Amino acid sequence: MKNSIITSNPYNQKELKTYNYHTDNELKIILDNAQNTFENWKTKEIKERTNLLQNLANTLEDKKEIYAKLMTEEMGKPISQSIAEIEKCVWLCDFYITNAEDFLADSIIETDAKESFISYDPLGVVLAVMPWNYPFWQVMRFAVPSLTAGNVGLLKHASNVTSTALAIQDLFEEAGYPKGCFQTLLVNHDQIEDIIENDIVKAVTLTGSEPAGRSIAAVAGKNLKKTVLELGGNNACVVFDDANLDKHIDTMVKARMQNTGQSCIAAKRFIVSEKIYDQFLSRFKDEVSKLNSGNPEDSDTFIGVMAREDLAEELEQQVNKSTDLGAKIILGNKRNKAYYEPTIITDVTEDMPVFKEETFGPVAAVIKAKDNEQAIKLAANSIFGLGTMIFTENTDNIYNFIGDIPDGALFINDMVKSDPRLPFGGTKASGYGRELSKEGILEFVNKKTVYIK
Ligand code: NAP
Repeated sequence: MKNSIITSNPYNQKELKTYNYHTDNELKIILDNAQNTFENWKTKEIKERTNLLQNLANTLEDKKEIYAKLMTEEMGKPISQSIAEIEKCVWLCDFYITNAEDFLADSIIETDAKESFISYDPLGVVLAVMPWNYPFWQVMRFAVPSLTAGNVGLLKHASNVTSTALAIQDLFEEAGYPKGCFQTLLVNHDQIEDIIENDIVKAVTLTGSEPAGRSIAAVAGKNLKKTVLELGGNNACVVFDDANLDKHIDTMVKARMQNTGQSCIAAKRFIVSEKIYDQFLSRFKDEVSKLNSGNPEDSDTFIGVMAREDLAEELEQQVNKSTDLGAKIILGNKRNKAYYEPTIITDVTEDMPVFKEETFGPVAAVIKAKDNEQAIKLAANSIFGLGTMIFTENTDNIYNFIGDIPDGALFINDMVKSDPRLPFGGTKASGYGRELSKEGILEFVNKKTVYIK
């Protein structure tokens, strides 16, 4: 196991910084600090906490360019998309500023008692293990509701975005949150196991891959600690034979290619009804070939580089194994270090990696279905269950299919996307629990029954 983290820019391979892992002694201080801060933080009125949330939103807005540049440098996200990510975090703060008091108010339940209700008490110190693909958004969508509910947070971020992780701790401190409310840990996988086992930590949330989810959930389970798992996805974009391509083809392209294809809820399998297949493929190919690849720091770049070269190599192997099984490349498929050209692969069947596995980069697998019904069956054939999108002009007919999609989300005529107002999460190997909305803020609370006779 290495004893330090070295970050580098995936676009030009330049080394950025070296960070030492925390020592046992440093970790003890951080954990004690978290616990001591919680004892006071949990007594604050919700209004006091939402006032701080307003400062957080203001600081994000003021330092938007600085934060965006950090992410772009560390993981290659095109700068315009990095800025949009920070703006979405501001929206998240605004949503909970308006709604948190309401969501956390006692719920009265009429019984034979003089008074009975549910009180939503914070759990305490919550550990968040987070991925690099949306380095601010993923962290904030945990931290904003959870801290507002009275918990305190510890962050173990993906190592390649360590500078961003430290900037997020500074952001909370600059916004006036008590020191210890949100702390970033510089730790390796072994240290994480000890931290989960520590009595101070009451719950764990992980956003990341399926193997990471299994490993973290096993340790948490052994220690009887609550977990929320937001894991990988293999979303289908189902194109019914009456889909309006004029209106929606841009959305379908964006659904796969934004963030250079590195999104858990991206459309990874395009399952297209035979009647519209040729028309779809030609329009889709035209649009994908127009996407602008380039330096992530240029404002007109849409496709940057993938976050690490090894991730691009992994994607290449999934594509190669699929072409060995008979799939055909009709666009792209050139790789140069961490850059992967936007790629379309057809003649895809259910036994191929690009159908069965999550492809975390700019590769669209296109599958021909005999009709709408078969398209739905193929969409549901996945070990993952984050979301499905269906494009059709007959939205009245959709109600017949809702029960056939066993995912956390079903979007009609739009891409699956996260929205502070709506619950977000998966089923099956995509994990469990929900983030965002009222559901999200109630994940890390003790729903305590109070009964007064
Ligand atoms: P990853 O390799 O699983 O890493 C995620 C985080 O877990 C990182 O902080 C990583 O730390 C840590 N980690 C991994 N294995 C661990 C272990 N055994 N013990 C302790 N910590 C461990 O995932 P990623 O490559 O960063 O992100 C891509 C994956 O995340 C994709 O599968 C994607 O679908 C999923 N994702 C899901 C959602 C969702 O909402 N469902 C959202 C975004 C991404 P190190 O960096 O130090 O290894």
